[in-house]
Amino acid sequence: MTVITRFAPSPTGRLHVGNIRTALHNWLLARRHGGRFLLRIDDTDAARSREEHVAAIRADLAWLGLRTDGEERQSARFAIYETALAQLIAKGRVYRCYETQAELDLKRKVLLSRGLPPIYDRAALALTEADHAARAAAGEAPHWRFLLDHHSPIAWHDGVRGPQQFDPRQMSDPVVRRADGTWLYMLPSVIDDVAMGVTDVLRGEDHVSNTATQVQMFTALGAEVPRFAHAALLTGAEGKLSKRLGALGVADLREAGIEPAAIIALLARLGTSDPVDPALDADQLAAAFDLSHFGRAPARFDEAELARISASVVHRLDYAQVADRLPQGMDAPTWRAIQPNLERVADAEGWWQVINGPIAAPEADPETRAFLASAAQVAETLDWHDDPWSALTAALKEASGRKGKALFLPLRQALTGMDHGPDMKALLPLIGRDEALARLRA
Ligand code: GLU
Repeated sequence: MTVITRFAPSPTGRLHVGNIRTALHNWLLARRHGGRFLLRIDDTDAARSREEHVAAIRADLAWLGLRTDGEERQSARFAIYETALAQLIAKGRVYRCYETQAELDLKRKVLLSRGLPPIYDRAALALTEADHAARAAAGEAPHWRFLLDHHSPIAWHDGVRGPQQFDPRQMSDPVVRRADGTWLYMLPSVIDDVAMGVTDVLRGEDHVSNTATQVQMFTALGAEVPRFAHAALLTGAEGKLSKRLGALGVADLREAGIEPAAIIALLARLGTSDPVDPALDADQLAAAFDLSHFGRAPARFDEAELARISASVVHRLDYAQVADRLPQGMDAPTWRAIQPNLERVADAEGWWQVINGPIAAPEADPETRAFLASAAQVAETLDWHDDPWSALTAALKEASGRKGKALFLPLRQALTGMDHGPDMKALLPLIGRDEALARLRA
């Protein structure tokens, strides 16, 4: 059976690190098994869903390289939900209720004050057809609850958490449709998972109790229950669930110059027993993706770690992979010369400036000026096609008796305006003879 997974974001905001991780897990699993990865836009909440967020979700997934094999939108599927609800009505698995929020709150309070779990009492099940008719005549519309089957204990083998068991008698029958006809998340999600042929649902452990309910919904709809896996949630580096982490979006990471491959490399392995390895590409990560390697403890997400991984990804990028992001005119040898010194591809701009000038060299004392003047004289005589830096420094060492920092630093400062940077052996030929002479003389 083809593995089919889906990522089901609500377009009520931008994607953040937590839901990118969920998307990635689903993508990796589908990829691993040669299956399909689908995008489902959960936009049943018309008031909170925004078209700009839908566009941003697609763009973020594309930027991360998470290609989708299909897309559905819940707002286009209301007629399908209607049909499925009719089936459940016919089977007696959904029922009409009229309690107001205030009444429900009161019931909860009473139960809690007696030390009982706040489970819905199913009072509406006792209503007769005459009661419903009277409500309708009074212009009152019902909301609908799904009738949990109290006789079949809920169990599944979770891909991450192992055997899971829930007692349906300890759960409230969930409201699936509001009196105004709008849908809550729970049932449409199951209807869609059935229709889309989803075989594996991977999501965060905040959904475990939803799964308990949804397992019964699959069965009530006469469908097979997919495999479920719930990953432990992410925490910030401090170990706490941070607000900042919840808000940290793909757009922020992209603006910070983080490489998509670094996000993939980190999030694919965070919370697993497998080491994070910036050298692995998405296909290699998919080939090694295994739910049994996930731990139950919350996984720590550290932005500083992500930045380090991203730098290491930058150090591995081929010219062809970055050419369109480099300053106009920067060629492959130049990229290779500056690459080891970059944390972000965007920093290439700064080194391009250093190579092409103008640069601002620090003020030199008279002794250093004399040294640089002799350097200019030597540089004029060099063969610039063959490693001028080694030839220059060897000759100056001989002539001046300087060595180490005293030899190299004034030259680097005069030639680049900086105290540190890429290997001068690679950099000097790129600066070129005329410009180098001019800088040494200046
Ligand atoms: N829209 C839901 C969410 O973002 C989907 C949950 C799911 O079924 O995976 O939490």
